[in-house]
Amino acid sequence: MSYIQDVYELVVKKNPAEPEFHQAVREVLDALEPVMERHPEYEENRILERLTEPERVVMFRVPWLDDKGRVHINRGFRIEFNSAIGPYKGGLRFHPTVYLGILKFLAFEQVFKNSLTTLPMGGGKGGSDFDPKGKSSNEVMRFCQSFMTELSRHIGPNTDVPAGDIGVGGREIGFLFGQYKRLRNEFTGVLTGKALNWGGSLIRPEATGYGAVYFAQNMLATKGENFEGKVCTVSGSGNVAQYTIEKLIELGAKPVSVSDSNGSIHDPDGIDTEKLAYIMELKNVYRSRIKEYADRYKNATYHEGKRPWFIPCDCAFPSATQNEINGEDAALLVKQGCTLVAEGANMPTDPDGVDAFLANNVLFGPGKAANAGGVAVSGLEMAQNAQHTRWPREEVDRRLQEIMSAVHAQAADAAADYGKPGNYVVGANIAGFVKVADAMLDQGVV
Ligand code: NDP
Repeated sequence: MSYIQDVYELVVKKNPAEPEFHQAVREVLDALEPVMERHPEYEENRILERLTEPERVVMFRVPWLDDKGRVHINRGFRIEFNSAIGPYKGGLRFHPTVYLGILKFLAFEQVFKNSLTTLPMGGGKGGSDFDPKGKSSNEVMRFCQSFMTELSRHIGPNTDVPAGDIGVGGREIGFLFGQYKRLRNEFTGVLTGKALNWGGSLIRPEATGYGAVYFAQNMLATKGENFEGKVCTVSGSGNVAQYTIEKLIELGAKPVSVSDSNGSIHDPDGIDTEKLAYIMELKNVYRSRIKEYADRYKNATYHEGKRPWFIPCDCAFPSATQNEINGEDAALLVKQGCTLVAEGANMPTDPDGVDAFLANNVLFGPGKAANAGGVAVSGLEMAQNAQHTRWPREEVDRRLQEIMSAVHAQAADAAADYGKPGNYVVGANIAGFVKVADAMLDQGVV
């Protein structure tokens, strides 16, 4: 039995009932088979066993009071997965589906993604099964304060620097930062995604969506194409989806969908800047349902319970959540002419879907490469905080574009080097892995 297979079986045995973690590990390990053949030192030093075992997992109780004075208990987590190339870095997710397996998959992915950004950041992830939907702002604040009271013991600007993810946006980062500052009596860059007037970076809110489109632009350029006139489907209507749409509009594409956990909007006329401003207000200010879009724009249709993959498109940007494109969705996308998929979300395509895209020569940018722009600009926010300075918008955007081109080049080069040209899944996993594995070798058995 091969080393890779042994390690995978060990991971499944040691981490029962965590299918998302198994899925993320499987994808990485499958890509690494040829690397293990070329570099026996990784097996000799048990790099894969070490890499699949988080350095530290913190799990804690988060008690809080609602507006009526009733007591609620949620569970909080921080997975500090790998610090070989820098302090742990990765977002916090507040969503009722959060449990250990989801956060371990996300933290594991983050290790390779952060490595690809070219910046010195290790991998981590955290969050809670708390559902911010339907809670008042005061309830969200009390929850964030309780969550940070425990989390503050484990993080710091040179140790572990969380950011946002699903359910954690600017409002939550503000509440979390306020409590950290109060407990520690220090104003440091311990969180990224901060507001501009207290340490945030320009372009951070935009970074993941813009970055996914820049990555896609790099993929299109390999075929001598650009976004002009391309019909694009986007899922989700949160942070990543909103700024993906903004950049697509700017580059002359025609985004025609958005969605939320209840259903999808198809707007055949295209979403323009005015409609996007409405989506932003609907989701960020009123925290409402995307269904209302169809009440306002009469040519648009709402599809309850459906994801947007039935809509014909040239390019697809899954930007909501994990496993939102299965094999059937992928086959339908291909059949209707989709030739590019860039994953704004983490692991939105399941293994059957990935196989279908690769078998049909779709330009497929996996999340750990295509959505690395968010954490990359978080890294730039840390750099600005450490220097007590702030870079102008153009400077951050220029660096983001350079980083996304570098991520693309590393993935493309590694894929070609290992005999799979054009396969960004294999390329991103190998390029992300090698940098971390070599750092682990340098640092001894720790
Ligand atoms: P937001 O909370 O801003 O938005 C999430 C969107 O996805 C909402 O429209 C939400 O709908 C929808 N959604 C969430 N869960 C589900 C579900 N189970 N089924 C269907 N739809 C769902 O999060 P982000 O935009 O920040 O994150 C989206 C994805 O991008 C995630 O996979 C995240 O890990 C990834 N990502 C985010 C980064 C960032 O910088 N924010 C960086 C890199 C990756 P509803 O309103 O109904 O909940």
